Amino acid sequence: DGTVSLPQLLDWLSRFSALVTENRTYLTELDSAIGDADHGVNMVRGMTAVMEKVGAAPPEAVDALFKMVGMTMVSTVGGASGPLYGTFFLRFGTTAGAVTELDGATLAAALRAGFEGVIARGKAELNDKTMVDAMSPAVDALDAAVAGGASVSDAAAAAFSAAEAGREATIPLVARKGRASYLGERSAGHLDPGATSTAMLFESLAGALAG
Ligand code: ADP
Ligand code: MG
Ligand code: MG
Repeated sequence: DGTVSLPQLLDWLSRFSALVTENRTYLTELDSAIGDADHGVNMVRGMTAVMEKVGAAPPEAVDALFKMVGMTMVSTVGGASGPLYGTFFLRFGTTAGAVTELDGATLAAALRAGFEGVIARGKAELNDKTMVDAMSPAVDALDAAVAGGASVSDAAAAAFSAAEAGREATIPLVARKGRASYLGERSAGHLDPGATSTAMLFESLAGALAG
């Protein structure tokens, strides 16, 4: 129906942790082509720490939960992706507020605030070959679906499709931010690792909200 519960948000995080763990080698291989071969390791370290913290003392409101998630990503991931995902989750939480349930409009607003935090922190633009290329179309698709009256489940599925398309669109791009930008033209012809993990973030959300 029209709302997202705290257990569904926990399921989102748990699915994301499982997906990056399953794809740890793949994400690291993508990063070895255009970066420093640690994106899988970084994401698994961060999300494993998140699941440990959340499991030990599960917060009872959305803002507290995502503050814990964001701070844990920032403090445990050494790479660029830690502060970026950390900021995403922190802004998601502050925008959602001290609630235990989100309606579609609040979910859309919280995801957009998270995305805007990534932009504020990393200064990437669309087509710079970063996680922004998957996140921006995903957030737009979710917004449009919710505004058009779709269920949160259908809206999250639309966001995942858009994230996948955005991820694939990074292949021909020349990187303009992050380590891959050091390669210049040689960064073209490869998937961006961060756009790939961001598509997994939306795959996880769609999975948690399905049905
Ligand atoms: P590092 O590059 O520090 O080793 P990771 O390998 O964990 O960190 O993450 C790399 C990913 O981070 C890139 O594939 C890209 O998607 C993303 N990224 C890097 N810099 C930026 C930025 N300024 N804005 C948005 N995303 C970025
Ligand atoms: Mg790296
Ligand atoms: Mg690194």
